Amino acid sequence: MKKIKVVSYWLEIRSDDDSIEHEHESLVKIKNAIYRHVDNIDSCQIKTEVVSVCEYCGRNWTEDSDKYNACCEQDEMDQEKRLRLN
Ligand SMILES: [Zn+2]
Repeated sequence: MKKIKVVSYWLEIRSDDDSIEHEHESLVKIKNAIYRHVDNIDSCQIKTEVVSVCEYCGRNWTEDSDKYNACCEQDEMDQEKRLRLN
């Protein structure tokens, strides 16, 4: 019979704004504290999940193209410039 065995737990920190990118240093401190204060920990890793967003407006990137997402005025202007150069 199948048994569900837990092999890891993780602490997930999410943020919709850019402040999450500054949290990595805090995670390193937490990780080091776990190794110092918790016994029988074989491995403690910081895992990162990423998403693609527009560099201008921050909306999710939904298109296959890496250059054009049709999400905001600046993205549209970049696309027009590229089309004019070709
Ligand atoms: Zn955009």
